[in-house]
Amino acid sequence: MSDQSQYLKSSRLITAHYGEEYEHYYNAIVPPVFMNSLNVFETLDDYYEFDRKDKHKYCYGRVQNPTVRILEDKIGALEHGVGALAFASGMAAATTAVLTVCKAGSHVVCVRNAYGPLKDFLDGYCREHMDITTTYVDGERLEEFSGCVSKATSLIILESPSSVVFSLQDIRGVAGIAKECGAKVYIDNTFCTPLYQQPLDLGADIVMHTTSKYIGGHSDVIGGMLAVKDPELMKQLLAYRELFGGIPGPMEAWLMIRGLRTMEVRVEKHQETALAVARYLEQHPKVRKVNYPGLPSHPQHDLMKRQQSGNTGLLSFEIEGTAEEAAKLAESLKIFKIGVSWGGFESLVFLPHVRQDEENCRRLRGDKNIIRLHCGLEGTEALIADLESAFRSL
Ligand SMILES: *Cc1c(COP(=O)(O)O)cnc(C)c1O
Repeated sequence: MSDQSQYLKSSRLITAHYGEEYEHYYNAIVPPVFMNSLNVFETLDDYYEFDRKDKHKYCYGRVQNPTVRILEDKIGALEHGVGALAFASGMAAATTAVLTVCKAGSHVVCVRNAYGPLKDFLDGYCREHMDITTTYVDGERLEEFSGCVSKATSLIILESPSSVVFSLQDIRGVAGIAKECGAKVYIDNTFCTPLYQQPLDLGADIVMHTTSKYIGGHSDVIGGMLAVKDPELMKQLLAYRELFGGIPGPMEAWLMIRGLRTMEVRVEKHQETALAVARYLEQHPKVRKVNYPGLPSHPQHDLMKRQQSGNTGLLSFEIEGTAEEAAKLAESLKIFKIGVSWGGFESLVFLPHVRQDEENCRRLRGDKNIIRLHCGLEGTEALIADLESAFRSL
């Protein structure tokens, strides 16, 4: 087997070569899509006694697959974990993590700006079927966490930065509080990608990625990942993934591996463009607020610099005007298309709060008129010109 440790020196070496064993597939530079549902054995003893940790032994596609394994090795290495597990969606990863860590009657602490469907899962399924209670916090002050945790708290759910108003949590500080009460810290790291933030190094226990975003990177695949640092937790998650059945198909894993190859060069461009767009918006007379952690005016810019090494292409802003005017602005854009999701090559615009009531908007701390942009790879000048002409049409 080739020496893999040489590739651990940089993220680009990891995305290019780590976890791949060219000699096992005729030295093809791209691994095959192992499109098989099962693997066969010489004897029954071989089947019953095989070691599941052995990368060269597989039995059944819902348990493991060699193409999926390559992806997992790369993400595990990028996140400095003992390993990672791939899932068929971000939500499959998130719900498997919650159901693995929590028991009936558990208490969860979650940031209010976490991904909506995950909160729906906590408030719906988890509360109704498992008596799990959730306390929501803004998450910007550590006292909010220390003030609501108890011995019953199993899990603290973070998303830093969050993906509508871009608020941050002090990961190291929260991990300290979690340790005292015996809770685990889960963080959605999708915005930063494994390149710009490594939460396991800061004390988090589970890092989640929606690979549908920058890791896939081409808006052609849905997927999720969990990376962990504790081998015991890794074992439990693997066992429950097998039972819940959330492993992605080999073709999806292959697309995620392909996305990873160019992730670093892509997110550098996304970041460069988003910062230029944020600066353009910040000086615009019709804009009253820009939310982008890379701007020195972001209220948590210092914390950002302590725990992140970069930002990516997503930002939001509020105009001086009504939600109707914000909608008109969004609909006047030509290159930015209206759509949810983000992280692909294309620029997108969305009004995530336009159908929320005022009270919910206040709680989520983004006005009804908040506009979210994903800055794609079409070029900074073209995107700013698109915004400029949309503003003129107001
Ligand atoms: C898209 C997204 C998810 C959900 O991922 P799916 O692959 O759609 O299930 C979770 N968290 C964040 C921050 C997201 O943007």
